[in-house]
Amino acid sequence: MIGINNQRKHWLKLNRGRCYIGMLMVLVTPFQASQASDDTITYPNGAHVAVHLSYDDALPSQLEHAVPTLDQYNIKGTFYLLPGSETLNNEQQVEAWKKAAQNGHELGNHTVFHPCSSKGSDRNWVKPYASLEQRSPEWMAAEVKMANTFLFLLDGQKSRTFTPPCFETMTGSGDYLAAVRPLVAGVYGQTLPKPEEVFWSAHNVSGKKLINYIKHSAANPQTKVIGIKFHGVGGDYLSTSDKAHLELVKYLAKHRDKYWVTTYKNIVDYIHQQ
Ligand SMILES: [Zn+2]
Repeated sequence: MIGINNQRKHWLKLNRGRCYIGMLMVLVTPFQASQASDDTITYPNGAHVAVHLSYDDALPSQLEHAVPTLDQYNIKGTFYLLPGSETLNNEQQVEAWKKAAQNGHELGNHTVFHPCSSKGSDRNWVKPYASLEQRSPEWMAAEVKMANTFLFLLDGQKSRTFTPPCFETMTGSGDYLAAVRPLVAGVYGQTLPKPEEVFWSAHNVSGKKLINYIKHSAANPQTKVIGIKFHGVGGDYLSTSDKAHLELVKYLAKHRDKYWVTTYKNIVDYIHQQ
């Protein structure tokens, strides 16, 4: 069981009204607080820490390197696909995504057009039609719903988690997360407050650094969920080498007693059941 500690109560207070689940937990806090006797969670394999690896933007190098490595070590990843990406306009690669889903990998929602803020000199790559400033929360909810439909046609799943593009959620008329939360199983990195849940968007780092991030995070007894987010693996952009990725996957496969390594949806569902 997850105990409710002071830190979470504080977080829930801070987030009251922002999140439906948060509100629900605030409402039941008096009951849970009287039931809470410890502050640990035990995952299905007996581990106290869950680890999830995720991959954004449906990049070709993920199909070429990440999926085969994960499959080789029987580790399930979460792939936040974009319907408009090149791998979803290629028959063979579409089949490869379908097969990945059949193998237990999660196909996550990452919107349709990847709206990000277009403010700032480093945002020339944001197309006018994908500028978050031009959107509204209602529009974002409609887009996430459309992406859900698209992904359902690929994997037959009716529930999946969501990563906000660029981790930005402020539209021209307010934050969109509250409008999107009811449409998804969970929002990346936002199931538990820090440091109970931590994640790192890694690129251009060694396998040793990736492994050390897991070890270091898991050393904090409060930490229950650890995520590492990738983009390119052995290619494309924001890339991590195939070798570094392989070293991390090997490490995780070797320490299955210590970590519950699975999709983000499996972790979110399990935590919500507790
Ligand atoms: Zn992205």
